[in-house]
Amino acid sequence: MVTRLDVVVVGSGPNGLVAAITLARAGLDVLVLEEQPVAGGGARTLDLGLAGGLLHDVCSAVHPMAWASPVLAPILARRGVELVVPQVAYAHPLPGGRAGLAWHDLDRTVAGLGADGDAWRELVGPLAADVQRLVELTLGDHRHVPRDVLGPGLPTAARLAARIVQQGTPLWRRPLRGDVARALLTGAAAHSMTRLPSLVGAGTGVLLAALAHAGLGWPVPRGGSAAVSDALLAELADLGGRVVTGRPVRVPGDLPPAHVTMFDTAPGTVAQVAGDRLAPRARRALTRRRPGPGVAKVDLVLSGPIPWTVPEVGLASTVHLGGTRAQVVRAEAQITAGRHAHRPFTLVSDPAALDAARARGGLRPVWSYAHVPTGSRADLTATVLAHLEQYAPGVRDLVVDARCTPASRRHLVDANQVGGDITGGSTSLLRMLVGPVPGWDPYRVGPDVWLCSASAPPGPGVHGMSGAHAARSVLGALAERGKAGR
Ligand SMILES: Cc1cc2nc3c(=O)[nH]c(=O)nc-3n(C[C@H](O)[C@H](O)[C@H](O)COP(=O)(O)OP(=O)(O)OC[C@H]3O[C@@H](n4cnc5c(N)ncnc54)[C@H](O)[C@@H]3O)c2cc1C
Repeated sequence: MVTRLDVVVVGSGPNGLVAAITLARAGLDVLVLEEQPVAGGGARTLDLGLAGGLLHDVCSAVHPMAWASPVLAPILARRGVELVVPQVAYAHPLPGGRAGLAWHDLDRTVAGLGADGDAWRELVGPLAADVQRLVELTLGDHRHVPRDVLGPGLPTAARLAARIVQQGTPLWRRPLRGDVARALLTGAAAHSMTRLPSLVGAGTGVLLAALAHAGLGWPVPRGGSAAVSDALLAELADLGGRVVTGRPVRVPGDLPPAHVTMFDTAPGTVAQVAGDRLAPRARRALTRRRPGPGVAKVDLVLSGPIPWTVPEVGLASTVHLGGTRAQVVRAEAQITAGRHAHRPFTLVSDPAALDAARARGGLRPVWSYAHVPTGSRADLTATVLAHLEQYAPGVRDLVVDARCTPASRRHLVDANQVGGDITGGSTSLLRMLVGPVPGWDPYRVGPDVWLCSASAPPGPGVHGMSGAHAARSVLGALAERGKAGR
């Protein structure tokens, strides 16, 4: 007789691993199947075969969501993962030798923003000061309202809603008036990869800007993002969970028999592999879910630190390149309309500036990615270098090696990144709140099938919360089944 496992999880990204850990902790027999040779999904750090044999973060590099995550933070602390806190969470250089600097210290940020300083404090300060409630509101399952929202939690909930409406609509002309503060907030909003202003952009921007001034800011894990996955893998192994790598799941026959199947994958994969176990409505919704715009990742090896015109930019874990608010808005509108932007919004991180051991033999890995249309085949190396050169003249002379993974090839690195999409298709507030299959439980897509990836609420980022919420849904369903069986 074939033994039936309790749970199979397809995919070992942060959400898949958190789901597996939550269920293994509840005493279930859990097996994770991962198609890549190395587990960890969007939190892997690998030798890409570039000069110096350096280790590069293949997807995520900077982790405000990890310390803010109620499920990830305790695991990282228990497993001794060090999150290195930069003095400047993120920076946004502008033409004319100016730069917006989101210092971890809110007062310093306010001082640097001149006439917009007080407005910045008012916009994000109270949210940063009540970060736990902010996280409950944004990283929840978007179904359950936090318990105290009609009591002591009301001011934070009301503030968040007001900021989303103000910064997600043409009202965003207020209260920030100057180029620098506007660019600083717009850069955080552009992580949503939407046409700006948008409600999802405003929510993303306000959350990320508030996290810059709270807790550990925008830290990098010592040793790279793999430190996050290694901690999750160690936790799972101690709980008896197993992970098999090099095991793609493409057809129903690739799955071993199990009472529960969870997918830390793109929605289309669920429909492809488990279509006959889904309600027709769910199958249609999962099949129809379209990817968001793409990213082209450009990995560099430099022979020295990036020579930023404004030296404080080099203190930031993340640098946003894109120019003024108007320029970022134009570039994001172009890529969402399927066209390349001349100067696409680009994110850059030089982890060795915070974690010296990431550099070796005088060489350092530099991580960058640029927003491009879905499925773009373009090699963005020259574009990203030209962009960098604008704010860090001479950087080209430091380039020892470079490689671009175009959007059209991102699925080879991680099958969830269909056409280079890194948002799980969460390109509107509604989609992000509802998830791919409308319903009260956005995770349970079939009687014994659950979606637990970043395509389900609360959406993208290394926080593991989609996995945690999906696992709780599984436990609820199993408890119900247990009651019914009695
Ligand atoms: C270039 C880039 C930069 C980013 N930067 C950041 C950042 O700095 N900070 C941050 O918080 N977030 C960042 N993100 C987003 C973050 O990485 C993701 O939101 C997060 O990893 C999502 O986790 P997940 O578990 O849902 O999916 P993933 O991490 O994508 O993991 C999914 C896993 O499932 C596996 N898989 C998929 N299909 C199959 C299949 N059919 N069979 C078997 N295995 C399968 C994949 O190989 C992968 O291992 C970035 C993403 C990218 C691409």
